[in-house]
Amino acid sequence: MAAPKDYYKILEVEEKADQDTIKKSYRRLARKYHPDVSGKSGEDKFKDINEAYEVLSDPKKRREYDQMRMGYAHRQARNQGPGYQRVTFDDGFGEWGSIFEDLFSQAGADSGFSTTRTQTQHVPEETVTLTLEQVARGETVQLTVSEPQICPVCHGRNANCTRCGGLGQVMEPRKFSVSIPPGLESGSVLRVGSHAKLRVEVAANPRFVRQGNNLLGKLMVPVPLAAMGGEVPVKPLIGDVVMVKVPPHTNQGKVLRLRGWGLVQRGTNVKGDLLLQVTLRFPEPFTAEDDQLYQKLRENHKEVGGEIHAP
Ligand SMILES: [Zn+2]
Repeated sequence: MAAPKDYYKILEVEEKADQDTIKKSYRRLARKYHPDVSGKSGEDKFKDINEAYEVLSDPKKRREYDQMRMGYAHRQARNQGPGYQRVTFDDGFGEWGSIFEDLFSQAGADSGFSTTRTQTQHVPEETVTLTLEQVARGETVQLTVSEPQICPVCHGRNANCTRCGGLGQVMEPRKFSVSIPPGLESGSVLRVGSHAKLRVEVAANPRFVRQGNNLLGKLMVPVPLAAMGGEVPVKPLIGDVVMVKVPPHTNQGKVLRLRGWGLVQRGTNVKGDLLLQVTLRFPEPFTAEDDQLYQKLRENHKEVGGEIHAP
C-alpha cells in the first residue's frame, strides 16, 4: 500500500501546528488554489487541501490520522532495518502485508548449547498489527518461532552431547501459518506452536470506528440531496461501492443502517451492520445562484430555531 498522503505537507504546516495555524494556512492555500482562481490546473491541489483540512481540523480525525501515519512509518522503518525475521501475509496486500518483527533471538539455535528449560521460561509474544480490512476478511500470518526439537546431533541418545548439553532437545526455528479468523478483536492473543503467542492489534481506520461487530462512520451528504432525497455512493470497508438511499428531508445526525455490512461475529456467519451518521454539507463552492436560492428559502421560512437539547 502506498504511503498515506502527507496532510501536513499539503497544508504547509508543521506536525505540531495548532488549530489556528492550520486554519490560517488552509485559508491562504484555499484562496490560492481555488478552482475559480487557478482554474482546472489547481483542482486536484484544491481537493487535496480540502481533504487535508477536513482531517487536520478535526481533533479526533487528526489523532486517528497521526496514529495511522505513525503505524505506517513504523512498518517502513522495520522494512529497512537489518537483522529481522519476516512476518508475511499471503494475500497479496503488498507493503501492508510485509511486517517485520524482531522475533526471538536465535541464541539457543546458534550457540550450540541450549536447554528447553531456559528457553521456555520467557514466553515469546509477537505482535502483528492488522488493518480493519484484514480483520474483516480474516488473514493468514506467517511466523517463525523457536520450537523444541529432538537434537539433530545425538538424537537424544548422548548424555555428553555438546549440541544439546545432554538434554536431547534443542530450540530450532520453525515456520507457522497462523490463521486469524475474521472479526477478531484488537488485543486478542493466539497461541503459536507449543509455547509462543501472537497478539493481534487492529490499526485505527481513517473512515470507520468499530463497535462490537458494527462499523460506525460519518457520511457526508450535500444539503440539497438531503433535502430532496437521493442516492449517495458509499465505499464500504471491503467490497465495491454501493448506492445508499438518503430519504427526503434527512436531518443532520440521522443514522442510516446498512444491515450486514459490518464485521462477522466470530465463529458464526452473522454479520454486524454499518451505521452511517449523516453529516450535512453545503455545496462547495457556494455560487451566487446558490446564494439566491437559499435567500429564497430563508424568506419562505421565518422560523429561527434556537432550541437547545442536551447532546
Ligand atoms: Zn544432543
